[in-house]
Amino acid sequence: MELPYAEPYRIKMVESIKKSTVEQRKQWIKEAKYNLFNLKSDQVYIDLLTDSGTGAMSDRQWAEVMLADESYAGSSSFLKLEKAVKDITGYNFFIPTHQGRAAENVLFSAMVKEGDIIPGNSHFDTTKGHIEYRKGKVVDCIIDEATNTDLFHPFKGNIDLNKLEKVFKSNPIEKIPFVIVTVTCNTAGGQPVSMANIKAVSELCKAYNVKLFFDAARYAENCYFIKEREEAYKNRSIKSIAAEMFSYGDGMTMSSKKDGLVNMGGIIALNDEEIYRTAITFNIMYEGFITYGGMSGRDMGALAVGLYEALDYDYLTSRITQVQYLGEKMAEFGVPVQKPIGGHAVYLDANKFVPTIPKEEYRAQSLAIELYIVGGIRGVEVGTILADRDPETRENRYPELELVRLAIPRRTYTHNHMEYIAATLKKIYKSRTEAKRGYKILWEAPIMRHFTVVLEKIQE
Ligand SMILES: *Cc1c(COP(=O)(O)O)cnc(C)c1O
Repeated sequence: MELPYAEPYRIKMVESIKKSTVEQRKQWIKEAKYNLFNLKSDQVYIDLLTDSGTGAMSDRQWAEVMLADESYAGSSSFLKLEKAVKDITGYNFFIPTHQGRAAENVLFSAMVKEGDIIPGNSHFDTTKGHIEYRKGKVVDCIIDEATNTDLFHPFKGNIDLNKLEKVFKSNPIEKIPFVIVTVTCNTAGGQPVSMANIKAVSELCKAYNVKLFFDAARYAENCYFIKEREEAYKNRSIKSIAAEMFSYGDGMTMSSKKDGLVNMGGIIALNDEEIYRTAITFNIMYEGFITYGGMSGRDMGALAVGLYEALDYDYLTSRITQVQYLGEKMAEFGVPVQKPIGGHAVYLDANKFVPTIPKEEYRAQSLAIELYIVGGIRGVEVGTILADRDPETRENRYPELELVRLAIPRRTYTHNHMEYIAATLKKIYKSRTEAKRGYKILWEAPIMRHFTVVLEKIQE
């Protein structure tokens, strides 16, 4: 008999979380203007809003917090972090920032001009925001299979090389400063990109003299999928897979709140000295001196340790296994989820879940609100509200996928929590045809509206 899988860690410290009633949650979400970002955390039982900065640090990371050097310049904590980043990525230059979007802000200040075009598999929302804010344009070149949630494809985050080459051919090449490959591809459901694809994209970029950058927030999880799903890598260590992956690019930005296993932090690493020199001036203006960039010494120390822990195969197995378990349990109950299950989250397919709600009334948001009311579980809409309006026509952009993302924080919730989440969704799924009306927007920001949007329930 094969023994069941169990986590490669035990718990040294616990944090209480609050339960509540359906009646309380109905009132709270109304007060929150039907925006899940407006809830207080103690109004939430299981918080799957994001896996960003919400995970648990290890005893070794906490030890590093105590050892931290808070010197303004040249602290030993910075030097530890710099050593780790260079060792793992192989890039020559490292710039610390306070989080991932700050890394984008600093790098894009040095590299993106009005009218530029930045293709990629599918850009993360802050990445897109920082490019569009500079009046640049993003072009998604992800493979068509990515939008078919029923279809199994091992690497749904892959770039369609024909689409990418078309962008290269149909635009003046000097307007394309770089390509971004997001690993894993968040927007497409946390789907990985294969090494073969990364290599081919790299070759195409070189042929057209375009730089290649990684948005590497979940690169360790991507490397795990490469090891599991790409034959040639099955005997390689995660660290060596990561080294090969980074070798195909010119640099990376990263939110350390994901595979850095810390609560705050960001990374830029790159090879080009001229871009580095331009970027550090912006870093000093926006973030802080080049040896802390918005991070305290203790954050940098914890990150230096976290980066290595995230490359540990046993850790990655437990992380991905937990997410897969939740997804498979839901699929077993007939709940429509994006397949294959991604690395950090399970995505509910709201078009299939609540087709009875008109798409103009925000299906995915409606489903996310229902999940909160019924189970006290906070997920997030990855659909029409997130997709924002077209910058030119100001019309709503209706993406092909209307998803609710249930992101699982790292090393935080137990197996029983996964059972509870799956059972809650089973219950909602049973009564789904009763849902007829959704929500309307009362107020929205001109960019990245999902964080602050004000909604009203449409009465049946
Ligand atoms: C989280 C994330 C970012 C932005 O990072 P923050 O730390 O939240 O600012 C950018 N890209 C991807 C793929 C991410 O997951």
